[in-house]
Amino acid sequence: MSTTEETKPELIPTKIWKCRNADCKAWVRDEFAADSQLCPMCKGPMLRSIRHLPAVVNKIKRKPKPKDEYGL
Ligand SMILES: [Zn+2]
Repeated sequence: MSTTEETKPELIPTKIWKCRNADCKAWVRDEFAADSQLCPMCKGPMLRSIRHLPAVVNKIKRKPKPKDEYGL
């Protein structure tokens, strides 16, 4: 089930807030949202949701790749 192909980015279920307005496509990642997040575009209420997004590379606690160009 968790087979990862090199050609595809790994999508992980990520908590987001999405705009309640069906015509508005705005959404933000939960980690960037405020407690009572309002839509950045239409200032309307937002709903918690889950979206499959490519894994974020910040704050990742993994072994560095063999080809790491950044050294430390
Ligand atoms: Zn909106």
